[in-house]
Amino acid sequence: MWSICGALLCALVAASSVTPVYALEFCQSIDPKCHNPDDTAAKSQSHTVQSKWTLNASSLIHDLDQFRVSCKKLTEALPVDKVDGNFVRTVKNCIFSKSIPTPLKGPLRLAAVSKDAIEGILDLDMSVTQSDDFLHYVSGARLLPGSVPLAHRYGGHQFGYWAGQLGDGRAHFLGQYSNRKGEVWELQLKGSGKTPYSRSGDGRAVIRSSVREFLCSEAMHFLGVPTSRAASLIVSEEPVLRDQFYNGNVKTERGAVVLRLARSWFRIGSLEVLSQSGEIDLLRILLNFVIGEHFPFITPHDPEKYLVFFSTVVNETAHLIAQWASVGFAHGVCNTDNFSLLSITIDYGPFGFMESYNPNFVPNTSDDEGRYSIGAQANVGLFNLEKLLVALSPVLTETQQKQARIILKGYGNIYQMRIHQIFKAKLGLLGDDEDDNYLITVLLRMMEDTESDFTMTFRELSEISAKRFLNRNFTQMWALDDLSRHERFSDWLSNYLLRLSRQQDDSDLDRQHRMKNVNPRYVLRNWIAESAIRKAEKNDFSEVELLHHVLSSPFVTQETAEEAGYAARPPQWARRLKVSCSS
Ligand code: AMP
Ligand code: MG
Repeated sequence: MWSICGALLCALVAASSVTPVYALEFCQSIDPKCHNPDDTAAKSQSHTVQSKWTLNASSLIHDLDQFRVSCKKLTEALPVDKVDGNFVRTVKNCIFSKSIPTPLKGPLRLAAVSKDAIEGILDLDMSVTQSDDFLHYVSGARLLPGSVPLAHRYGGHQFGYWAGQLGDGRAHFLGQYSNRKGEVWELQLKGSGKTPYSRSGDGRAVIRSSVREFLCSEAMHFLGVPTSRAASLIVSEEPVLRDQFYNGNVKTERGAVVLRLARSWFRIGSLEVLSQSGEIDLLRILLNFVIGEHFPFITPHDPEKYLVFFSTVVNETAHLIAQWASVGFAHGVCNTDNFSLLSITIDYGPFGFMESYNPNFVPNTSDDEGRYSIGAQANVGLFNLEKLLVALSPVLTETQQKQARIILKGYGNIYQMRIHQIFKAKLGLLGDDEDDNYLITVLLRMMEDTESDFTMTFRELSEISAKRFLNRNFTQMWALDDLSRHERFSDWLSNYLLRLSRQQDDSDLDRQHRMKNVNPRYVLRNWIAESAIRKAEKNDFSEVELLHHVLSSPFVTQETAEEAGYAARPPQWARRLKVSCSS
């Protein structure tokens, strides 16, 4: 039997046998529906994640003047830079700097808008998005009622090394919005101009990267992966110079702004910068704030609260990275400044969805060493959590630091356990069988050898009937057709069908239904995004709209998507596509 450690699901070598006591305990508290062995993936990834608010549409806000945000909670609890102005500087003893967005040169166009985010999160009627006011508010030209725009000070480890102060160099926090469901969301513009943290950057984001961020954050949400959201995408006529592949070929592109939403934008780097510069009182203040706002099950006076917090982040980060792997998502730049303390996916840059199965898949062409390959993500998560522990050490007792190291050793087990559950669900397996690991590992190995498409192999396994499978009828199933060329395929197939046949009270239709709810048919493949971007750069946003629509129901076969070839074998030109950090 092949060792499971050869494949993506076991790219983590640092796993230890220590039981992650805190982690398992507190996972339950943060999200009761997460991580339940058999139905987790089905629940979290099925299209039931689509917004289900049932409130009356007439209670939506029709007048933007009625839409208020507030910065008070953050600015009253956390210190703001005493220095004003958007000039680049080293900032100390604060969490935020006031920074006014710099309006983009018009005319501005609304290239895309997410109805789900606009109505379901911001309580706004879609009609408001057609107004000039909306364009001005979400491009940074005008401030929303109640807004005190802020840039957040954070640091980070980039590609393994401490990079010092980073911060929001092109993003502005606009304020918090408390919606009618009782949720609090933080609004942020990305690409809205320089801040004290812009270093040598221009504070801008270009159309191609903004289209990618807009589409991918919404797509990830509908795939059931924890993520920041995107409400709108504005494109402008402002010239922005970019050397896309860092080869001296500087081109003029155009500026764009995405209105992004998250429950919190704090990152591992938010704590690191304070710890590194010895601002330990402030580190405590920020930690207490984050815990109070986002970890309600941790009591403020609990002497173990920072340890419990750490344990929760360890647990949730393992779960997040497992969910990335389940949909073939490689973030591309897993630096500590891009790792959320709430373990949601943030800062979409040179990400990619793996096509041919390959644990060494690296979406970012600037990542020469493949540090952030898809198969390395679990290990990188561990590296980032180690850095989080270093940042927390000044507020932990020695005993707590020891306990935290034990918790960290459990990370590998949590990841393995979650990956095992997810891949079992992807194969429609119920209950436990000692050979399940073998089935999963051999499948992945065959996929690697035959370069089978990750998304479509699992999808076609979900769509094929056992009878057709048995007859090896793979007509119009291009990914399975590729896979079936493997010498071990017949053997594997017999084992798989035997395993399925032993599932009591499970019909073939039920199995297909379950699997279709966890194996998407459509993901944001690079070539698909590229096609939409090329049109968007010519002010044709039709494919962005189509893709946004299709990716809002990734588990449902859609005629328009089929016609567009989104589930077909990628075209030849897709192989030559590259994405870099330049954005
Ligand atoms: P990212 O790779 O997008 O996560 O960014 C890493 C750091 O560089 C963050 O501090 C960003 O705010 C900053 N940054 C990236 N691009 C720009 C830009 N065009 N202007 C200013 N800061 C930037
Ligand atoms: Mg970032």
